[in-house]
Parts: sequence; C-alpha cells; structure tokens
Amino acid sequence: MFRSGLSQIRVAIVGGGAIGLASAWALAREGAQVTVLEAGPVAGQGALAASGGMLAQGFEGANEDAGRAFVALAERSLSLWDDWAERLTPHATAPLGYRRSGSLSPGFGARGEAWLDRLEANAALYGIGFERLDAATARAVQPGLGDGLVGAMRFPGDGEIDNRALGPALVNAIRAEGGDVRTSWPVTRVSSGSGGVVLSGPAGRMEVDRVILAAGWQSRDLSEDVPEARLMVPVKGQMLSVAPVAALTGCIRAADAYLSSKPGRIVIGATSETGASDDRIEPDLTAALQEAAEAILPALKDAATVEVWTGVRPGTSDGLPILGRSVAEHVVLGLGAFRNGVLLAPAMAETIRDIVLEQGKADPAFAPDRPLTALTQG
Ligand SMILES: Cc1cc2nc3c(=O)[nH]c(=O)nc-3n(C[C@H](O)[C@H](O)[C@H](O)COP(=O)(O)OP(=O)(O)OC[C@H]3O[C@@H](n4cnc5c(N)ncnc54)[C@H](O)[C@@H]3O)c2cc1C
Repeated sequence: MFRSGLSQIRVAIVGGGAIGLASAWALAREGAQVTVLEAGPVAGQGALAASGGMLAQGFEGANEDAGRAFVALAERSLSLWDDWAERLTPHATAPLGYRRSGSLSPGFGARGEAWLDRLEANAALYGIGFERLDAATARAVQPGLGDGLVGAMRFPGDGEIDNRALGPALVNAIRAEGGDVRTSWPVTRVSSGSGGVVLSGPAGRMEVDRVILAAGWQSRDLSEDVPEARLMVPVKGQMLSVAPVAALTGCIRAADAYLSSKPGRIVIGATSETGASDDRIEPDLTAALQEAAEAILPALKDAATVEVWTGVRPGTSDGLPILGRSVAEHVVLGLGAFRNGVLLAPAMAETIRDIVLEQGKADPAFAPDRPLTALTQG
C-alpha cells in the first residue's frame, strides 16, 4: 500500500528491542530505508529477552481494569501474530516456539472463586473470549494442578512465543528487507529541526528524515531532547526458569505466579517493582515465586533451576503505551509497552509505521500529551 516513493525516506529507530525491531521490520517491508541503533552489543537483550513471551490478550484484558483501548490494541496485535510468526519463521535461527494454545487461570482456596468471578466479569465486559471451568475440567485441561483448586478461567485465544528466539529472527528479517541493525550504538542526543533529525553518540553521527524512539525504559535518558520520554516509569521484574519436568498445555496465569513453556525450560514469573531499574536478584523474592509455582503445579518441586534473571519493563503512570508524534519534530514515540510488549509488538509496530508514513494515527488513549505523571525520583 505504501511502497511507492518510500525508498527515499530514511528512518532511524533508537532501540533494538521488542518495539524498535518490530517497527523497523514493518517499515522496511514497506520500502523505507531503516536503521536500528541499539546501545548493547546484541539487539533484543533488554526487556524482550527478559520477558515471559506470553501473548496473553485474554488474561491481561480481564485481570485488571485494563480499559477498552488496551483490549482493542491487544486484540488487534494478537490477530496479527499468526501472520507475523509465519513470516518470521524462515528468518529464525532457533525455533520460535509460537503456539496459540490458550492460557489457563486456576483459582485456589478461599480467594480463588472471587478472583475467578472478577476475571469472568471483566472478560464479559470487554468481550474477551473465555470459558469458566470447574475444578475437574480444569484438571483435565492441565493435569497436575495443586491442592485447593476451585476452578479456572480459560482464555482460548492466548498464545506464547520464545521471546529469546524472536529478537534474532526480527534482526534477520529486517536485514532481508535491506534494513540495517547497528549494535554498540548508544544514542545520546536527538537533535531535531525542520530539515530532519541528527542522532549522535559515542559511535558516531547520523542524519535522517524520521526517528522512532523505542529505547524502552531507558528512553528517559533522552528526555532533554524528547520531552515525553521523561514519562517512562521503570518496573523491574525478577524471574526464573526450571527444567521442563511437566508438560504445560498453554500458559498458566494464576494470581501469584505464571508459567510458560519455552524450548528446554519452563519460565516462572514475575515480580513487579515500580520505580526499580537495578539488576539485583533477591533470592527471597525468587524463592517465593518458585514456591507459588510449586503450589500451582506440584510436579515443579523436583525441577532443577535453570536460570534466574531480571528485566525492566517500560511502564507509564496509567499503564498504557505512548504512541504518537513527539513535540520534537520528526520524532515518533513507541514507548510504554509495559508488561505486554511482546504481545503488543505487531500492533504497536504497524501503528508506528502508519504514523511515520502519515497514513494513520493511534487511539487517543495512547496520545503522548494525555495527563501522565513521571516518577519524581530514580
Ligand atoms: C520480567 C518481565 C516479564 C515480561 N513478560 C512479558 C510477557 O510475558 N509478554 C509480553 O508481551 N511482555 C512481557 N514483558 C514486557 C516486554 O518485555 C516489554 O514490554 C517489551 O520488551 C518492551 O519493548 P521495548 O522495545 O520498549 O523495550 P526493550 O525490549 O527493553 O528494548 C529497548 C532497547 O533499547 C535499547 N536502548 C536503550 N537505550 C538506548 C539508547 N540510548 N540508544 C540505543 N539503544 C538504546 C536497549 O538496549 C534495548 O535493547 C515482560 C517484561 C519483563 C521485564
């Protein structure tokens, strides 16, 4: 739809993570000249690599009062994922592990029924597809669930992907379209003017027509030049993975922990620490996560720990993305994917592509100038 004339547009993407790589690929497929500038030695090693890789539109929409705009964006993104996964597969260097086998939210004990009731009410409110299961049916769907199970909600549309395989696949796909991905290229200044934008940093200087800022929570460091970036709220997460001693029929999203299968491991997540951006692992917190996971699926008691790690989500004060034009000329913002950037990557990328190409805009709920608050410290 856009291809004609686009080969002249030079777009630089600051940040080679979930949103930056996806946006670069979406634009490269339309013929734009894209260059991703990634601070680290390898792209995709920020929150993307740290994440749980769940594509849980149903659960995430129902779990909290996510709001209609989030649910609609997540629904659109989930609907794009089949096509994205198929097109990315030839570029993957390891299996993408993409599957749409749903997520199961088991409720346990006295609090379980009320939690399931709330999920069901929200799912009904937002038109999210779900099934409410009694305990016996939930056990038939996912054998081995723990004691005190009172029932479950199932979100059949949800999926998962190996997020660590996704980054390299996107890099290869961008390059296959003629795009460039440069690593060890931290951007420290974004100088925009009517003629275009100059990006600079220790690795050099680059002049382009448009810039997409997608540097995750660290976009904050560029807020002197791109003022909206100060609205990023870091939200640290600690996670672990264990040996795959049990077969999961899909993601398990319980109240106190989640489980998702990846090749050779089951990931267990995650803490949520607003304002924290350090990479310190706190063994008491990860032990509590492991204990919660073992209560959900007792077979995990025998599972050896494979890895423990941290990551930082790019949050905002209202939990919604920031998608739109910056007050800095020719700069488009792809920020605030928070705890769902893998799920949201296709829809955010295609929205960003349309904004860059002046072919569309985002839902006003994601407008950069809506009332948001920045963290006062940290
Ligand atoms: C513990 C945890 C679990 C999660 N689980 C899920 C999940 O199950 N499903 C889901 O959908 N989402 C999940 N997420 C959220 C998801 O990972 C993020 O929303 C997503 O990665 C955000 O994408 P991003 O591109 O904004 O940031 P990132 O993926 O962090 O990428 C930003 C990139 O920008 C680079 N960068 C930073 N500063 C600069 C600079 N100055 N110049 C150049 N490059 C720069 C960084 O090095 C990084 O590579 C999880 C996140 C965490 C931390």
